[in-house]
Order: sequence, then structure tokens, then C-alpha cells
Amino acid sequence: MNSFLRSFLQNRQQAALYRTRQPHDNPQTPILLINGQPYLAFCSNDYLGLANHPRLKTAWQQGAEKYAVGSGASHLVTGHTNAHHALEKELATYTGRERALLFSTGYMANLGVVTALIGRHDAVFLDKLNHASLVDAALLSRAKIYRYPHNDTQTLALMLAKSSAQHKLIITDGVFSMDGDIANLPIIVKLAKKYQAWVMVDDAHGLGVLGNTGRGTLEMYRLETEDVPILMGTFGKAFGVFGAFVAGSELLIETLIQSARSYIYTTALPPALAETVRASLIVADEETGRRKRLHELIAYFRAAALREKIPLMESFTPIQPIILGKSEKALMVSKALYERGIIVTAIRPPTVPQKMARLRVTLSALHNENQIDKLIEALAEVL
Ligand SMILES: *Cc1c(COP(=O)(O)O)cnc(C)c1O
Repeated sequence: MNSFLRSFLQNRQQAALYRTRQPHDNPQTPILLINGQPYLAFCSNDYLGLANHPRLKTAWQQGAEKYAVGSGASHLVTGHTNAHHALEKELATYTGRERALLFSTGYMANLGVVTALIGRHDAVFLDKLNHASLVDAALLSRAKIYRYPHNDTQTLALMLAKSSAQHKLIITDGVFSMDGDIANLPIIVKLAKKYQAWVMVDDAHGLGVLGNTGRGTLEMYRLETEDVPILMGTFGKAFGVFGAFVAGSELLIETLIQSARSYIYTTALPPALAETVRASLIVADEETGRRKRLHELIAYFRAAALREKIPLMESFTPIQPIILGKSEKALMVSKALYERGIIVTAIRPPTVPQKMARLRVTLSALHNENQIDKLIEALAEVL
């Protein structure tokens, strides 16, 4: 086995695809401490800056006092506390849906929902740039998989017309996690009605960020539960914590409780974590200035990058990729920035398509204009 592993790792290294981790020693904020040195980071999904919020930390501590640290069992045995139950009710209200169901992670939510709803006689339609967890969910479901080119709803229409599957499920990211652009949901919803398909949106990067009240991509487009019956969201991004949920009708959620395997066969989230997410939903709603600030900084970054002729993509979300092409180049630029005290991770295949390696800049409400100036200056120099 070792010789197989060694050659696998060598190949990865030679292709500039080798992955490493960089431990840091302080909360997830724009400044990360590495070996005692401060670095300015632009990689976090903590878009509203809630991961280090005092009210969330207090909720965590009080939750641990009340419920201790482990949930002790799965939800269907004795792991389901009033903290989980209350959070589910609040998520239903937050999303304007009948019910919501907690999952341990977004990855598991996607696996659970898709495999519970479709099987070998069905078809699933995925945007080519959907998150890896949705691709894995589709594979695990054994349904016939159709992948349409990114945001190409014409091809999606042709694929839907061609399929004679019993049930058809269209799944898309709301905000695409590596490109930062937004799915064309109004057209997808129209096609779904025409071809009697079901629609699921993974809004991991839209919730808390988009729409007048931060309800995400659906709010931005003014879409209702009837349009998108299956909504998945996560707590590890704008909400600053960890975990995920699915929201929809009473019937949908009851079905998932009966048959979503990644819900049933796993330990319930720690109750203190549920208490922390409850606090996060309140703070995200009360402190509306965070969302406003984030969008100001996105505009500031784009204007500054434009002035320096740094190539941007059509993204108006906190995800601002700079496409560099070759993995070697992305890695080199990322290293050069690191030497200047700035962290922007190089994102390479298979996370993104071949020859589309990039720096993925993400912004948080906690950044400031001065920090963005430093990033732009360093980028202009290095590029
Ligand atoms: C992060 C992410 C997930 C996975 O969520 P986790 O809770 O981190 O497992 C799923 N889908 C999308 C689009 C994501 O960006």
C-alpha cells in the first residue's frame, strides 16, 4: 500500500495539486496568528463576522452549562433536546416555511435529502458548478445524472424534455461557491413547472448575505416555497457557527425524518451548538449593519481592483475569484502574497475545472478599506 500512496502523493505534488493545512492560533477574524505572526486573511466564509461574536460565545457557554457537551444519541433515539427543537421552529419562521430539520453538516444534509427523495428510476439535473456534496448526493441516489453547463438553462430545458424519468429533481447552488455568481432561479423554476420537476436550492452562501433581510437567493428573486420546495442552508458560513438544515413543507420534513439516512444514523449536534445558532439568527437579524457593511466592502474591493486592472468575475457576492489558469500560477501568486503577510488560498482542480485555478478572495463585514487597499496593492505587484 505504501508504494501506491507514495506515488499518488508524488503525482499530486508534481501537478501542483498537493494540499496542505495552515494551523492558526486565534479566532476566525481578518487577522490570523500563525507562529505568533499576524497575517491578513481573505478566505473565510464568516461573511457577517459572527464566529467571534460575544453573544454567540455566551450562548455556547450557557448551552454547555445547561445541556453539557455531547448530545449522547441520534435525534430519533434520545439526542433531540428542546434546544434543537426550538432552533428548528425558529428556522421554519426564518425561512417562511412550515418546517425545518437540522443536519450535522451541509454535506450530510445534501446526501440525506437527495437520497431520501430520488432513486434508480428517477433523474437528477445539476449545474456543472454545483458543490461537490451535491454531486456525491446525486451519485449515491443512483438516479440518472444530467449535468448542464454552468447556468445554461437552455441545455437544462433540452435535458428535461428528453428525460422520461418517474421523478425529476433539479438541484442548484443559490450562490456558486467558487465563482460567486448566482443561479438563474426564475428560469429554473419556470422550467420545473413546465416539465413537472422538483427544485432544490443549496443556499449555503446566499443565506444571511443576499436579499433585503438576508433570507438569501430566494428572497432576492422573491420566490416562494411552491417555487422551490426544498431549501438547504448551512450555519458554518454567514451564521458563523457549524451545521446545516433543510426547510420545506410538513410533508417533506416528515419524510426526511423517516428516511434521510444521514439524519437518522448519526449523533445529534451538541445542544449548545443549537443554542449558539439560535443566537446567531437573532444577531444576523438585529445587526443589519453587518450585511450593509459587507456589501459596501464588496463594492469597494471591485472598484479598487478595476482601477488596478485586476481581472474580476461577474460576482456581487462576498466571493470574488481571480482566475489565474494554471495550478502552478495560482500556487505561486498565493505564496507571493503570503510572503507579504496576506493569505488568499489558491483553489485548484478538482475543486474548480481544469485550467481554471484561481485565488478565491472572500470578504467579511469585519474587513476594512485599509485592509482591502493592502490586498489590492499586493495583488497588483505580484500579478
Ligand atoms: C460549504 C458548502 C456545503 C457544505 O456545508 P458544510 O456544513 O460545510 O458541510 C454545501 N454546499 C455548499 C454550496 C457549500 O458552499
